[in-house]
Amino acid sequence: MYTNFSSGDSNPRLDSILTTMKFIDTHCHLNIKPLLERTNEILDAAAEQGIHQMVVVGIDIPSSEIAIRLAEDHPQLFASAGIHPNDCSKAPDDWEKHIVEMLAHPRVVAVGETGLDYYWDDSPAELQKVFFRDHLDLALACGKPIIIHNRSADQDVLQQVMEHGNNKGVFHCWPAGWDMAKPLIEKGYHLSFTGTVTFKKNEIVQDVATRMPLDRLMLETDSPFLTPAPHRGIRPNEPRYIPHIGEKIALLRDISVDEVAKATTRTAEIFFNFDHTK
Ligand SMILES: [Zn+2]
Repeated sequence: MYTNFSSGDSNPRLDSILTTMKFIDTHCHLNIKPLLERTNEILDAAAEQGIHQMVVVGIDIPSSEIAIRLAEDHPQLFASAGIHPNDCSKAPDDWEKHIVEMLAHPRVVAVGETGLDYYWDDSPAELQKVFFRDHLDLALACGKPIIIHNRSADQDVLQQVMEHGNNKGVFHCWPAGWDMAKPLIEKGYHLSFTGTVTFKKNEIVQDVATRMPLDRLMLETDSPFLTPAPHRGIRPNEPRYIPHIGEKIALLRDISVDEVAKATTRTAEIFFNFDHTK
């Protein structure tokens, strides 16, 4: 069960500052439970906070198909298609054929999410590496950016990415320190930050958010997971909480929230190449 709450939860001071700003949630899972049944309500709440565009990220073939359907039905949504590292062992043998077909869809703006996850034991590491390399190949071939998930796999992710010719992508829910961020940024990659950057004691990630070039930085909720402070612990997370992540980035970098909103929105528009005519 999760707590379903209404407007009473928000911070009035922050709300009044933020309602005129525009943010993009570059990574959310409106395609899975418990968010899937509540699309319209979630989009209305997001619009009230200035979030008018979201990327719905696939984690397997069915959820990628649902992401596309949502993007067809709602002009503010775009989709990505891919197999999450934890879902590799469940994927059908012909997964790549399905993903390639989906990548040709005009509302699909990215490949993924893919990557390596050694925290959970759902798929063998060697299988994850094969899927990850295949997704990198697909991204390079189709010209759409890749969305990379890394959990407890820093060295292997870094090695695979640095050895590969693809250089257009985003490391979602950035989890590591500057030593890992620097070579990836130099190669051309973007980093995006979730509610984890708002958590106390996450200085390693906050350091990266402070030092990296602002024009490579994007915001995401990864909802329904990782609700940012001050709502940490409340489930599910939703796109409407993006401004709290923007406010934290602004505090860290000693710039205005408005500047963070403008910069990250512009970066995401260019990165995903959103086409509202299709
Ligand atoms: Zn995700």
